Amino acid sequence: MTGEIYEELGVPTVVNATGTKTRISGSLIHEDAVKAMVSASESFVRVSDLQARASKLIADVTGSEAGYVTCGASAGLMLSAAACIAGDDLEIMDQLPQTSNIANEIVVPRTHRTGYDHALRAAGATLIEVGTNDHRLGTGSQNTEPWEIEEAISDDTVAVAYLQKEYTEPSLSKVAEIAHAQNIPIIVDAAAEVPPKSNFTRFIEEGADLVVFSGGKAIRGPQTTGILAGRADLIESVALQHLDMHAAEPVWDPPSDLIDISKFDGVPRQGIGRSLKVGKEELVGLIRALEIFVEQDHEKLGAEWLARTTRIAENLATKSALSIHTTEADKTSIAPEVVVTVDEETAELTTEEIVLALRQEEPRVFVGADTLSEQAFTINPMCITDEEAEYVINRIREYV
Ligand SMILES: *Cc1c(COP(=O)(O)O)cnc(C)c1O
Repeated sequence: MTGEIYEELGVPTVVNATGTKTRISGSLIHEDAVKAMVSASESFVRVSDLQARASKLIADVTGSEAGYVTCGASAGLMLSAAACIAGDDLEIMDQLPQTSNIANEIVVPRTHRTGYDHALRAAGATLIEVGTNDHRLGTGSQNTEPWEIEEAISDDTVAVAYLQKEYTEPSLSKVAEIAHAQNIPIIVDAAAEVPPKSNFTRFIEEGADLVVFSGGKAIRGPQTTGILAGRADLIESVALQHLDMHAAEPVWDPPSDLIDISKFDGVPRQGIGRSLKVGKEELVGLIRALEIFVEQDHEKLGAEWLARTTRIAENLATKSALSIHTTEADKTSIAPEVVVTVDEETAELTTEEIVLALRQEEPRVFVGADTLSEQAFTINPMCITDEEAEYVINRIREYV
């Protein structure tokens, strides 16, 4: 059995039938990445050298000028905002997140706002929202008109923020075109948008100046990693505000492809990103996981997920109190899912009671709870083995 450490600690493990969710620890690190992390733990290394190496890999994979490993996509957003506000100004780097006397506005379409944009504000940015939620009215109106973004950009603007989902509009290329016409960079949150692998290059091609991906979701790197890809000058600003800067100026010698010291009067102070430290083990784990991910046969993986989904659906369909259908991998989910609708007239428990009871078991069983208001829960095949799928089916059948 795996998970012995949790037994030792007396902490229940989770059977994860809801996909890569941070609160139930993201994903399982690829075993070869774990091995690389153990090896990384056996020597000292200069962290900036490791970041410069990661930068090359990320640039290769995404087609960007440079890259950086952060402690999550959310941290990547905070560092992106800090880079867009401070650029190569050491004094501004030092004063963040205090921005009362400097340009600090990030324009964002209202319907692109998420809880994760707290990270942008944490760097000292003020969000300027544009647009409405009118698309939901069904009147044919758009949420955000391109001119609204154009008009909101002023001398106080440092960036435009863009949430990448299949359903977000206007298109990234359109928004990038507007931002670039006024020399404003665009920061793209694409945390959960791989696979498909083609998305690694897509957002850079469409004009992203900085784009963040989670390392701890489908990529199966350490949960506390993220990938930041983008313009070399902005990544340089990120590195200056993130790396440990307790260095003596005469012997300060960071990798020149990451930081060009000739541009700066001296060593910066510890920056706002110093609290977002990335360890050598995580850095190496992410590098190896990313290498494996880009080599992986994603069609085969998709076929596995589909087969598992179909099997789960068939096994639950024999219960009369449940009606079952499956969804395809789509706009909000990279894997197909089983949707289990509970007939609350005949079932002994309500949908909510079933979902809660499953979570209170040992091991905890997590199914997807985004559709509770429709008396339904979901089962996602990505983070369970076939054996665990059997287990989940049996546990659900106990309650109905
Ligand atoms: C998961 C997610 C994040 C945060 O990613 P972390 O790597 O957990 O920091 C940010 N934005 C979106 C849209 C996400 O799905």
